[in-house]
Amino acid sequence: MGQLRGAIVPVTPFQQNCTILWDDGSARGVVVDPGGEVDRILDAVRQAGVTIERIWLTHGHLDHAGGAADLRDALNNVPIEGPDQRDEFLLQNLEAQGRAYGFTMRDVAPDRWLAEGDTLSLGEHSFDVLHCPGHTPGHVVFVDRAARLALVGDVLFQGSVGRTDFPYGDHAALIDAITGKLLPLGDDMRFLCGHGPGSTIGTERRTNPFLRCAGSE
Ligand SMILES: [Zn+2]
Repeated sequence: MGQLRGAIVPVTPFQQNCTILWDDGSARGVVVDPGGEVDRILDAVRQAGVTIERIWLTHGHLDHAGGAADLRDALNNVPIEGPDQRDEFLLQNLEAQGRAYGFTMRDVAPDRWLAEGDTLSLGEHSFDVLHCPGHTPGHVVFVDRAARLALVGDVLFQGSVGRTDFPYGDHAALIDAITGKLLPLGDDMRFLCGHGPGSTIGTERRTNPFLRCAGSE
């Protein structure tokens, strides 16, 4: 089995970590959360020398999904997978949302909605889909248990957790998802997140101030 490789391209003024993930044996990969600046993402794909087979979306916010329609067009209609359908209202409102920030972006309809328990494949690697609502209702997380790598979007950050100050945000649900689904992945599980540096589940279990009251101790 080839090694899993990754490259992060921060996109949009929100510096969202668009992530290119690939299997170095087959040089086939996916782009996760192409929020915008599609030309820069395509440059990074060319530099990595990989063939992109899928676009994966963790949730429907514009800095994660705003470039998905244009990237799909540029990549010969590769399928867009995710998020959970509960984020459809966000994906259908990207153009209007973007306009409010002065961005040009398009609404997007994924080719496949994801649900808790689904599995995604990248070459010989397989990623479990976890539904982790709270930041948005349909947020999903991708977990490669064998490679010990998770892509958690805007659910959990180094030293912080996702914002829930949106009309549809739910802080209690977010903390439930982190404690019920992410902490059990194990302390050695590394994760990449939507903004800033990644971390490990163990580091966050021990030091994240938002999880102080939520852990086992
Ligand atoms: Zn978000």
